[in-house]
Amino acid sequence: MEYTWKHNRRFNAYSNYCVEHFGERIQKLSVNAGFSCPNRDGTLGTTGCIYCNNNAFNPSYCSPEKSITQQIEEGIEFHKVRYRRASKYIVYFQAFSNTYGSLEILKEKYSEALSRPEVIGLSIGTRPDCITGEILDYLAELNKKYFISIEYGVESCNNNTLERINRGHTFEQSVDAIKKTAARNIHTGIHIIFGLPCETKEEMLLQSRIISDLPVSSIKFHQLQIIKDTPLANDFVKHANNYKIFTLNEYIDFIIDFTERLNPSIIIERFTAEVPPRFLVKGGFGLLRTDQLLQKIEKSMEERDTWQGRLYKKNKLLWKE
Ligand code: SF4
Repeated sequence: MEYTWKHNRRFNAYSNYCVEHFGERIQKLSVNAGFSCPNRDGTLGTTGCIYCNNNAFNPSYCSPEKSITQQIEEGIEFHKVRYRRASKYIVYFQAFSNTYGSLEILKEKYSEALSRPEVIGLSIGTRPDCITGEILDYLAELNKKYFISIEYGVESCNNNTLERINRGHTFEQSVDAIKKTAARNIHTGIHIIFGLPCETKEEMLLQSRIISDLPVSSIKFHQLQIIKDTPLANDFVKHANNYKIFTLNEYIDFIIDFTERLNPSIIIERFTAEVPPRFLVKGGFGLLRTDQLLQKIEKSMEERDTWQGRLYKKNKLLWKE
């Protein structure tokens, strides 16, 4: 089998893409730039998406009380101890909605991150309804000199699900943001969660076709994790039957089924999510770390003799404008 990517792994892996694109391993450094989110500050709502507890995802060195420069410096030190190979970094604006502010504020925060010589680009996590043409035009300018990636929390292609999880935006808004970003040649990442309430396995799989026909550069998958102190944790106690909480083997089988149907040109950045056990009610995979889970998924792909895009059919548009 000849893959459309240049290495011999069975999926279009982000880490390999980085080595090919930048000539070396790149480390992402998370920062918390102190942004809020319209689903929390009262603009759309105050309770947020039902699964959201940003504390569960925030690395210990990230805090809006520290300057972005200080967080970057501490992040570099933190990663040096573990991963000595990286000498270039992408600053990941991770917590909350990182384009939710005036252009002036955004320029200030992004410029501070890019002023460090080791920083070669930005990865900006945000909601699809928190982007404007003005912000995209500015990021397109930055993209001429740096690597700029926007990561949209799409979460599901199903509007009923988006309503159920209180996202406060529709899938059509995600499509619009993705297209406008990709049209400016900005790396367009998305984030999808599997196991959201009331979604069947068939509905989840169908999304592979919908996403495959969008101009998406890269994707992150998460299995649903039920995290303490969230509306989701309360709902799960009352309506556990509405949830598909994957066991490890079920998830490996499912994510490979999904990957087989996914457009091979889409880079996969991660297959699973991991929060510290102290935050978790349900949905984790025991003590297995992300890299161990990845090894299991790749081993299972080999055993099944399958690969990303094996069942992908071009021009099978299920999503129409
Ligand atoms: S959009 Fe993001 S930060 Fe805002 S409530 Fe939802 S998950 Fe939390």
